Amino acid sequence: MLYSSTRNPMETASPAEAVLRGIAPDGGLYMNDLSEVKLDWRALLQKDFYGMAEEILGALLPDFGAEAMHRMIHAAYEGKFETADITPLLPVGDAYQLELFRGPTSAFKDVALSLLPQLITEARKKLGQQGETVILTATSGDTGKAALAGFRDVPGTRILVFYPSEGVSAIQQAQMVTQQGNNVCVCAVDGNFDDAQTGVKNIFAACAEKNLLSGKDMVLSSANSINIGRLTPQIVYYFKAYADLVRMGRIQAGENVNFVVPTGNFGNILAGYLAKRLGLPVAKLLCASNANDVLTEFLRTGSYNRRRPFYKTSSPSMDILVSSNLERLLYLASDGDAAMVAEKMQELSAQGFYEVSPALLAKIQETFLAGCCGDEAADETTRELWEQHHTLCDPHTAVAWNVYAQCRAQLGDTPTVVLSTASPFKFAPAVLRALRMPAPRQEFACMEMLHTRTGVPVPANLAALSELPCRHSDRIPKEAMLDYVLRKMEEPQWNR
Ligand SMILES: *Cc1c(COP(=O)(O)O)cnc(C)c1O
Repeated sequence: MLYSSTRNPMETASPAEAVLRGIAPDGGLYMNDLSEVKLDWRALLQKDFYGMAEEILGALLPDFGAEAMHRMIHAAYEGKFETADITPLLPVGDAYQLELFRGPTSAFKDVALSLLPQLITEARKKLGQQGETVILTATSGDTGKAALAGFRDVPGTRILVFYPSEGVSAIQQAQMVTQQGNNVCVCAVDGNFDDAQTGVKNIFAACAEKNLLSGKDMVLSSANSINIGRLTPQIVYYFKAYADLVRMGRIQAGENVNFVVPTGNFGNILAGYLAKRLGLPVAKLLCASNANDVLTEFLRTGSYNRRRPFYKTSSPSMDILVSSNLERLLYLASDGDAAMVAEKMQELSAQGFYEVSPALLAKIQETFLAGCCGDEAADETTRELWEQHHTLCDPHTAVAWNVYAQCRAQLGDTPTVVLSTASPFKFAPAVLRALRMPAPRQEFACMEMLHTRTGVPVPANLAALSELPCRHSDRIPKEAMLDYVLRKMEEPQWNR
């Protein structure tokens, strides 16, 4: 089984090669239309999370082999999540909430970033690559910590995370600077997220062009969400949620289910689409956005226009103008029309705009619905969920619940699952404000206050933070990022 670039069918890669490369050389994303994947989805429903993951990932990344897949999946998840079933499903009102935030850093990105390091090391072994893999990442908050936790002490890898000194919350910063491990490095960059992101892109380009790593026995790689090694593990919990509904007696196997997904880079919801293409009975996927509503407009009209104001909202992981993984939806929904995708992506980068054909829009709308809401509306939803259902949710999940309420009529009587992507305690000040509870000035005091006021326990990893020593205090100007990376690579170990 081969993956090919969404922009050129001749640009192919084995699953292991695609995991190592991340992005295709032509700038496209690796994809496979899954038409040749044979998966008995009904049989999957009998299995637990691990069994499902082995079957699904075994089918999508076959060259890793069943034995290695079994080992990697257990190493990634066993004993690392708060609940044995990894992604619990809970009834809330007339719908269900799928909790994706029970992992080591209380973010949904843990589900994929726990497994990605295993896939990368195994892929390097398979392809006979020597030396160390150095993961280089810029983060606006959640990805950095989840990647640090995933790669920590994984043999043959190191991870270096840059975060913007002005861009992350106190809790997110504390999560990163207290990171332990012998292969981790965290550094603040003076500036905002774009500065850090641009800096990292420039480092990749400089290392490739000037061959800066020759003789170093190191390969640079990234952990961002366009890697199929990050995308494919997310398919598993759609099956798991469906199986739970069957086990709970809420549906019969074969009945349709809807999913509502708080969306940023379009990775999570695309995994839902892949689950549907693998046979899971999914009726609608509802894409929920905050005030940055570029996806809502696209899914309703077929016009993608990134030339619009950028809003900083209470759900920062969804503050985005270009959703990378949408490219994969264009590819799949057009039955692999790579020439069309290449043209649209060219228009997007040149003019900041593209429009898809009415036929393609209709195909996309067979499955996708979209809606958006502002911070105030999301806050109101947070209050209602707490007052009516005793369910505490973070600002990203609140957007999804709000959009669910807006689209109730279009969703019909089909049972609906809302994906919950972060622990409310990661965003304690915003959640307290939404609940109209007093918010102390200190973010850590906010976590405690949210616990006192609601009785909901603080996740252990977050509760422990204020006691942990700071291990990473480096802070540099953005111009110094490349020199910093080259200097750090001279160190035999990053002992913290
Ligand atoms: C990353 C993230 C999202 C967006 O997920 P995508 O896969 O990028 O669409 C939503 N909520 C939270 C809390 C996140 O961290």
